[in-house]
Amino acid sequence: MANQNFLPDQYDRTDALDINHNYLPDQFADYEEILAKVGEVVRKGDFTLGRAVDQFERDFAEVVGVKHAIGVGSGTDALFLSLKALGVSEGDEVITTPFTFYATIGAIVTAGARPVFVDVLDDFNINPDNIEAAITPKTKAILPVHWSGKPCRMDDILAIANRHGLKVVEDSCHGIQAKYKGKGAGSFGEFGAFSMHPLKNLNVWGDGGLACTNSDELAEKMRLMRNHGLIDRNRCAMFAYNSRLDTIQAVVASHVLQKIDHITESRIANSLYFDSQLSGISGITIPQRDSGEVKQVFHIYSLRYERRDELQAYLEARGVDAKVHYPIPMHLQPGAADWGYKPGDFPVAEACCATTMSLPVHEFVTREQQDRVVYLIKEFYR
Ligand SMILES: *Cc1c(COP(=O)(O)O)cnc(C)c1O
Repeated sequence: MANQNFLPDQYDRTDALDINHNYLPDQFADYEEILAKVGEVVRKGDFTLGRAVDQFERDFAEVVGVKHAIGVGSGTDALFLSLKALGVSEGDEVITTPFTFYATIGAIVTAGARPVFVDVLDDFNINPDNIEAAITPKTKAILPVHWSGKPCRMDDILAIANRHGLKVVEDSCHGIQAKYKGKGAGSFGEFGAFSMHPLKNLNVWGDGGLACTNSDELAEKMRLMRNHGLIDRNRCAMFAYNSRLDTIQAVVASHVLQKIDHITESRIANSLYFDSQLSGISGITIPQRDSGEVKQVFHIYSLRYERRDELQAYLEARGVDAKVHYPIPMHLQPGAADWGYKPGDFPVAEACCATTMSLPVHEFVTREQQDRVVYLIKEFYR
């Protein structure tokens, strides 16, 4: 099989481009400081769960504003284990968005359920007004995705879930420090799932994730499920999974968590600067920005562009890492063939996929670089 160790091409292009999405060498320029902390773990032999994981979970829960954060192997596992902890299994349906990353759907499918898609709004998030029509007797849960770090309309989604007795699992993998009406994204549903993949806003040296919840009971279940169901060394409460957050990754995560305010504020400032410079250019649509009630943290800075493919190639040729997140909606993926969807089923999501493009807005992007990007885009549309 080709591509046995496929790596997304964002890892290869760092040297070829001047203005890049990949900022990891800058992000971890202080890696020796982290290595010293990792050395402590090695000296104690404290590799599995342990103090570093415990401390990080507490600190993370405080940032999100939830009672419990449970460290697991990845964001995908956080979603999957959340669904399993809520009893999702064969024959169930989970309502979600076709405009997301593959892992959202993978978690539903590996939990045994079938994803049922509902179209998005112009801000890329699931349209709550269309959810009720998708509910069937098999529906077990709603899985909204806070795309790009903009919270979904959680009031509406929770009201629907309550009316129909459905569970809510938030895919908050883009949403650390995002807020909806003053409350943290990932704190509304039965569970909120977070990822610490190297390209997420809070990132580690490999994989890591968290499942957040305000329920003591669900937290207890999640802690068991991620660790073989073990109550202690000799007693197993339930036969389950092995998906722990690595202690070494918890050390890295704690280090980055200290900088999360700066990371978030830089992303917001850079995004709002692009908004101000790119608004009014014909050919560009800026998604609706909800001021006040919603804090969007811009894990991705996506606008919609006419002649998107041409513009992307134009920018890439000039050293700007313009990316598409993502060109094909989930219902039209080869892996979705069995579910019977067809082009035209979700026109807004399909239009977003055809026109969206993302620019780098991470904390190492400079105003000068942004001005260059703006200049190039204006030249393109002139
Ligand atoms: C990254 C991501 C995930 C999966 O996270 P991993 O830690 O890579 O498993 C899930 N959903 C969304 C929306 C993501 O962007």
